[in-house]
Amino acid sequence: MNLIQHFVNGKSYKGNSNKKSKVFNPATGEQQSEVILGTKEDLNKTVEISKKAFESWSLKPPLHRARVMFKFKELIEKNSDEIIKVIVSEHGKVYEDAKGSLTRGLEVVEFACGIPHVLKGEFTENVGSEVDSWSIRQPLGVCAGITPFNFPAMVPMWMFPMAIACGNSFILKPSEKDPSCSFKLAELLNEAGLPEGVFNVVNGDKEVVDAILTNKDIQAVSFVGSTPVAKYVYENAAKNEKRVQALGGAKNHCVVMPDCDLDQAVNGLMGAAYGSAGERCMAQSVAVAVGEVGDKLVDNLSKKVEALKVGSGMDKNSEMGPLITKEHLEKVKGYVDIGVKEGADLIVDGRNLKLQGYENGFFMGGCLFDNVTKDMQIYKEEIFGPVLSVIRAKDFTEASELVNNHEYGNGVSIFTRDGDVARTFSSKIKVGMVGINIPIPVPMAFHSFGGWKRSLFGDQHIHGPEGVRFYTKLKTITSRWPSGIRSNPEFTMPTMK
Ligand code: NAD
Repeated sequence: MNLIQHFVNGKSYKGNSNKKSKVFNPATGEQQSEVILGTKEDLNKTVEISKKAFESWSLKPPLHRARVMFKFKELIEKNSDEIIKVIVSEHGKVYEDAKGSLTRGLEVVEFACGIPHVLKGEFTENVGSEVDSWSIRQPLGVCAGITPFNFPAMVPMWMFPMAIACGNSFILKPSEKDPSCSFKLAELLNEAGLPEGVFNVVNGDKEVVDAILTNKDIQAVSFVGSTPVAKYVYENAAKNEKRVQALGGAKNHCVVMPDCDLDQAVNGLMGAAYGSAGERCMAQSVAVAVGEVGDKLVDNLSKKVEALKVGSGMDKNSEMGPLITKEHLEKVKGYVDIGVKEGADLIVDGRNLKLQGYENGFFMGGCLFDNVTKDMQIYKEEIFGPVLSVIRAKDFTEASELVNNHEYGNGVSIFTRDGDVARTFSSKIKVGMVGINIPIPVPMAFHSFGGWKRSLFGDQHIHGPEGVRFYTKLKTITSRWPSGIRSNPEFTMPTMK
């Protein structure tokens, strides 16, 4: 059985734990590896190593750090096929989708290559007479990232390229469900010339997470995962005086206006609801059909959902792969049962899908509900599977209220040809990432990613300019070089003279 270890101080590390977790191939349902679940001691030891590595790494000129990132970018490109196959084999998503997610991670590395420019700081000559002032951003120290299963390359890459380029050292605790990708990325960083100990991977479960949250030498924690764990991480990291950004779950709405290009809206919704089997924090799981568009929307969607090509992620014809684990598959099917009990109309039922040759895989077909209402559990909770709920709204105001009153505020989109409606929507809607005729409005690496309400706890979004602010602290220096007569003591608040 393949054993996945930690990556500490530039090499694989077994640690002293005898706890392990199974890693499956979701398409076949077979266990393919086991991953060591680290202990508090493993984490604390890694922090000591990271602290030491930080001392010299933080002193390297930004240009030096950028060059390591350039080399890392090159190595990811060279090894992309292998990385994508690792993602497909442990997560299950289809090859082209995995490739897209790796590209979105790579774009953060590209942004980090520009770190010398981004870290230049600000300077004012003569803030007072012959007094100059400038602001610089300095790295924090040891930073940590805790990541979810659904993007085993991209989400860690939202974090560590930024943290490292800013001069920090970094400890990654990836999801125990698909940890191999992080190990591979660590090897490539090593090959790119990153000094040992600057980037480390400690696998584990709650024990390692708690060790991260309580270790006094970790300065900042980035978390991405479900909302209850995000809240736990936010509260406990803050209690232990750490900087923290904790991105949580989502229930993204797509508002379909009667004047929209219906084909565009339907195709957009298909990809956004069923791509990656709905296991995306930016998946659109609610379509809000406004006015008379409802019947046509459901009719067009249902034909496409029935025709969805479900299969192994390695099969070029597949549009949607399996879910991550058997337990998660049961949970998602359970939500469909609940929806039926709650009285929603199940237009397409994918619960009983069986695939020849993949009988033990964690597959289900796409499901489509109509006439979902706002008090139903399937509307209120994140399902994280290939289940799209259509909810009817009489007009734009009612549709906007639905979005604004939902507890999550990660992403939202609107399909319309009316610029006035689109502008009002983007201005008034209480959600962090908004798409106008764009189904999955994931910001590019040089902007920043993050939701509102219970989709993000903390002040800063992730990667891009907000990432630089998160992984550095501001220092402002005010300087005078007096010549001639020394001034007398001044007991009043200094003001500009
Ligand atoms: P999860 O919350 O179960 O796990 C995330 C991480 O937390 C993992 O590393 C896991 O080992 C750890 N963890 C799990 N339970 C824990 C506990 N009780 N105490 C401490 N640590 C714990 O999330 P998941 O199932 O891996 O990922 C899916 C979730 O992530 C969905 O809710 C999805 O919306 C969310 N997500 C959000 C974003 C975003 O940007 N907002 C992006 C991707 C995924």
